[in-house]
Amino acid sequence: MENTSVASKGYFGEFGGSFVPEELQTVLDELEEQFLKYKDDPDFITEYKYYLKEYIGRENPLTFAQNLTKKVNGAKIYLKREDLNHTGAHKINNALGQILLAKRMGAKRIIAETGAGQHGVATATACAMFGMECVIYMGKLDTERQALNVFRMELLGAKVVPVSKGQGRLKDAVDEALGDLVQNYTNTFYLLGSAVGPHPYPTMVKHFQSIISEESKRQIIEKEGKLPTAIIACAGGGSNAIGAFAHYIDEKNVRLIGVEPAEAPTLTEGVPAVIHGFKCITLLDENGEPKPTYSIAAGLDYPGIGPEHSFLKTSGRADYVTITGQEALEAFQLLSKTEGIIPALESSHAVAYAIKLAKELSKDDLLIVNLSGRGDKDVEQVFDMINK
Ligand SMILES: *Cc1c(COP(=O)(O)O)cnc(C)c1O
Repeated sequence: MENTSVASKGYFGEFGGSFVPEELQTVLDELEEQFLKYKDDPDFITEYKYYLKEYIGRENPLTFAQNLTKKVNGAKIYLKREDLNHTGAHKINNALGQILLAKRMGAKRIIAETGAGQHGVATATACAMFGMECVIYMGKLDTERQALNVFRMELLGAKVVPVSKGQGRLKDAVDEALGDLVQNYTNTFYLLGSAVGPHPYPTMVKHFQSIISEESKRQIIEKEGKLPTAIIACAGGGSNAIGAFAHYIDEKNVRLIGVEPAEAPTLTEGVPAVIHGFKCITLLDENGEPKPTYSIAAGLDYPGIGPEHSFLKTSGRADYVTITGQEALEAFQLLSKTEGIIPALESSHAVAYAIKLAKELSKDDLLIVNLSGRGDKDVEQVFDMINK
């Protein structure tokens, strides 16, 4: 997309901003204004809280992983159970918040992009609930490896559009969705699935995902009487991680750790650049284009990352580490066996790093792993990987 205007707001250090054509900027300015108007509106908050509880099933538990802790024999490991949300992951927190905003803005049509299919399912679910027309853009390759999620979205009444342009992956679906928005902004709301994109999306998505750390902070104090040593979350675009970090960012003694797949090590190997309308650290190929990545976890397969994570990394407030697909696969099986919890392959990256770190720490240390989703969607893929 052409860089024709730059907004002054929505910066995290040098990262973020809004690099979009003027036409789209007008839509984003209106979105920002409406978001700022409603986010603190008592009626809006009451409605959001109502659906968080009655529809999503919050608050979800902060479960002490007693068997895993015993096995690892180091720091105490707690799991923030986003896997128990309706639709099985954290993404519904954000989909619900944005759709309530869309409703107040008078939109009739919702569009979204999806990688693993989880954000598509969350969006289609919220659209069914609120009677909105729903169009989901998905990379063709992703529609093939997440065929059941495509069927789920269709059951929920959404139209799924496979995108075969480019690599047929998540980033290509984002491009298509932005194109649709430019064409149809008068009646259409773009429900973005991660803490990425031009302002105000990263700020808005963080706002709606912050419920994760709002709850976990209260829960860990209730259970342990102190704050954790570290929060560990997997990072694709970075929405579950920023939601899990949010209420601890000002607690300087709490380590914040984002876990990326070694096959898509955005913050470890990336460089600052503008992609998809915002500036972040990103993986580029030799032509300066976003680089295709190949994680076993479709939800982590994005060459960029949210602007706030880019800033937390460069400012040194958070650390970002990598875990290989093989390590994640082992953690997937280990958590299933020890705790009876099958984690999403994305979340398995965070679990794998927590196990490594816990071994280096003492029994007085507390780790909170954000279990961003459940692994039911991945069981068939893992079956194939183990039995190949
Ligand atoms: C989509 C997804 C992710 C990655 O997205 P973020 O925006 O980085 O949170 C992680 N875990 C699960 C279960 C997902 O569905």
